[in-house]
Amino acid sequence: MTTTTDTSVLSARFQETFGSVPDGVWQAPGRVNLIGEHTDYNEGFVLPFAIDKTAKVAIRLRGDSTVRLLSLFGGHGLVEADLSGMEPGSGEGWSRYPLGVAWALKERGIDVPGFDLLLDSDVPLGAGLSSSHAIECAVISALNDLTGAGLGAEDLVLATQRAENVFVGAPTGIMDQSASLRGAKGHAVFLDCRDQHVDLVPFDAEASGLILLVIDTKVSHSHADGGYASRRASCELGAEILGVKALRDVGVDSLEEAAGLLDETTLRRVRHVVTENDRVLQTVEILNSEGPASIGPLLDASHVSMRDDFEISCPELDLAVETARANGAIGARMTGGGFGGSAIALTPVGQEQQVRDAVVRAFAEAAFTAPDIFTVTPAAGALRLA
Ligand code: ADP
Ligand code: MG
Repeated sequence: MTTTTDTSVLSARFQETFGSVPDGVWQAPGRVNLIGEHTDYNEGFVLPFAIDKTAKVAIRLRGDSTVRLLSLFGGHGLVEADLSGMEPGSGEGWSRYPLGVAWALKERGIDVPGFDLLLDSDVPLGAGLSSSHAIECAVISALNDLTGAGLGAEDLVLATQRAENVFVGAPTGIMDQSASLRGAKGHAVFLDCRDQHVDLVPFDAEASGLILLVIDTKVSHSHADGGYASRRASCELGAEILGVKALRDVGVDSLEEAAGLLDETTLRRVRHVVTENDRVLQTVEILNSEGPASIGPLLDASHVSMRDDFEISCPELDLAVETARANGAIGARMTGGGFGGSAIALTPVGQEQQVRDAVVRAFAEAAFTAPDIFTVTPAAGALRLA
């Protein structure tokens, strides 16, 4: 994927496409979840960070209700739609994301007129880095500013969730847009998914001589198949049997007792969520005290828990994690919803090439599709560029 276009170049392209200058340019990042997987819908803790890969949108409000959209990403033509009378399920392809956030703002009583929009994003699609939320967060930030709606970050997070859940129809939580909207350079976003409380936690890997490698396995993940829904159902069943509102309310010290009440599969699903919540808290504590160089064992334990207890890994993710660890990474885990997507490997700068080469070789030997490997840095959340 190409790097994103310079702001002035994007404005010029906007003018070429739509015949006038944009009102402004906004950007919002994708995200990587450092730790805390499948804890979000259990009202637990997550620790994502905004990455230095972003969606940029140049936008101009219109005087009518027409929306015209163009993405510089290959193969997408100009899309035209009408905001008036727009219903969930309208639109297709990527247009559902900008249309969805416009719909969600209108649903809140905000008067959103039509707009022209040019998108340029270097967030890889479908790799588990939330390219869809990068688009949504860039667009909702722009519309929030341009309409004078003045919604705060928490409301923007909820409106974006409405857009994904209701308009697009993807059963996602609040983690991705919270990271994209509320992230900060050199920090991870410690998010309590029960009440949206956020603490920014220092996570400056570079200053500790570390880099974060993302290994995109190219195995496509989908919320549409049954894996995600069945995990959610197990968590709800577990909470019901244990008599709590959500698994967030179960502590590690209650797991022994839970073992007598739950069937074997439900127990393993519950154990993942309960121990993962605990690992997030421990990671935050360590980042605040010792720093990134000491979180490796927690990343490793998270992966094992997802592989063995929650059963959402796949051979490609396991191979990426094991190979990275065997070649110098100090901690590695799959990240994102699972069943494919990406792994992350926290790696000493001097070991980067060895990890990269070893993973590429291991994938070739296993006859897997060649992975895409790149670095990410904790970067700023959504902002206006021009
Ligand atoms: P993820 O958010 O994990 O990357 P999703 O399936 O939720 O995966 O979102 C990917 C979708 O986002 C793509 O199918 C496409 O519709 C849209 N998308 C992402 N980036 C772009 C882009 N640069 N141009 C057009 N559409 C994009
Ligand atoms: Mg997405």
